[in-house]
Amino acid sequence: MLGDQLNRGIESLRDAHPSTTRVLVVRSAAKLASKRWHRQRLHVVLTAMRRFAAELRAEGFEVDERDAASLRAGLSEHRRRYRPERVVAMEPMSWSGLEMLAREGVGVVRSNQFLCHRDDFAGWAGDRDGRLRMEDFYRWQRRRLGYLMDGDEPAGGRWNFDADNRLPPPADDRDWPRPKAAALDEVDRQVLATLPGGAFGDTPTGLWPTSRRAALDRLAHVVDDVLPIFGPHEDAMLTDEWRLAHTMLSSSLNIGLLHPGEVADAIEDANRAGRAPLASAEGLMRQVIGWREYVWGVYWLWMPGYRDANVLEARRPLPPVYTGSPTRMRCVASALGGVEARGWAHHIQRLMVLGNLALLSGVEPQAMVEWMWASFVDGAEWVMLPNVVGMSLHADGGRMATKPYAAGGAYIRRMSDHCRGCAYRPGERTGERACPFTTLYWEFMARHEARFATNHRMAQPVRGLHRLGDLDAVRARAAEVLELLDAGEL
Ligand code: SF4
Repeated sequence: MLGDQLNRGIESLRDAHPSTTRVLVVRSAAKLASKRWHRQRLHVVLTAMRRFAAELRAEGFEVDERDAASLRAGLSEHRRRYRPERVVAMEPMSWSGLEMLAREGVGVVRSNQFLCHRDDFAGWAGDRDGRLRMEDFYRWQRRRLGYLMDGDEPAGGRWNFDADNRLPPPADDRDWPRPKAAALDEVDRQVLATLPGGAFGDTPTGLWPTSRRAALDRLAHVVDDVLPIFGPHEDAMLTDEWRLAHTMLSSSLNIGLLHPGEVADAIEDANRAGRAPLASAEGLMRQVIGWREYVWGVYWLWMPGYRDANVLEARRPLPPVYTGSPTRMRCVASALGGVEARGWAHHIQRLMVLGNLALLSGVEPQAMVEWMWASFVDGAEWVMLPNVVGMSLHADGGRMATKPYAAGGAYIRRMSDHCRGCAYRPGERTGERACPFTTLYWEFMARHEARFATNHRMAQPVRGLHRLGDLDAVRARAAEVLELLDAGEL
């Protein structure tokens, strides 16, 4: 049983019986030492592994919970000790994991952890002549799975309510839904006592579910309190409000505590029962059966070459602001404050603040993948690689997203309240008070003008670039900004 497959229903366990099956769980020292992990990420996975092992024991299984130098070493030790007739695992969640299991002679059964198996995604992709639009995939999923459908037509006559969901922050001082945090118990304390010294970030508060029961409680909270208002402000950012109406289900989904099918069922039921408006239900359904499964599919379709994609030739090492240097950029400080406190930031903070800064400043894609993978409670290679390489850093040249998600300070000003109290000015691109996003945006456009000139979706910014009368001054300021960024002084 792997640490991100913590569910009794996974294919390798669902028909298992204690009389014939012993369960092996390995805590790999090599994995723990492989990155500068966020404390809460490690806590979620290691605690959930322990709790699931305890549930299996309560059911009568013998569980060999083993600390070993590596997964491979743990497997060898287990084989020496118990001499099993055969070892079986479900297809793992990573390319390197699949290679390792094959090398070690582990029998691998087909994964049922997603609604669209990677072979089915490859079949869908194979019919599409290289154009893998998420929207097409999502509609295909809706049709074949039957979610939010009236016969062959989408419920309400529309496939997509996204245009209704891009509102700036609301002006009122409303109360946002509060997820329940669980009190830490003895298992939490045991895990926390064994975390590696290099881990960073605040100590867990019980916010992230570490058991199936807690994950189901979180899902119930989402359906009752979040889903009815989900959507309209999902792209907004507020300095004093980190949750807004986000579901925070991803950490549970990504380690198997929840199955995407039960989340989709819950959304469907709430909408049919009149407890969630269609626009909200559709918005969340798109994230769960659309985006999430699409990202999973492209990871497997394009690996292993995809991890080396870097068409913009971005070579900058990860700037120190991502690993703790203070910054006067208020939007960046807010997003990174959330990462430090909870191992989490919402999708627009990830894409349009943290990712955008990395894109504009030319951070090397693999460095960004590694950082995001290690720093977020829901991190995994299959999630972060397509989101960073394809969506955020445009390192695949548009295979996944047809245009780069690059933006200057004007976008962040419109979608947040950060700029009001910031040391920088979003409308200025030169001078010491110029917003770094605005300066770097124009320098980025100038640097890649030849590439973007042939992309019709970039025609407007390229025209804007041609209208700039102060490009030399922008370039000079950009050089200063990048120097300050590298020094951790921006
Ligand atoms: Fe961020 Fe620029 Fe706004 Fe400051 S002015 S908060 S750096 S977008």
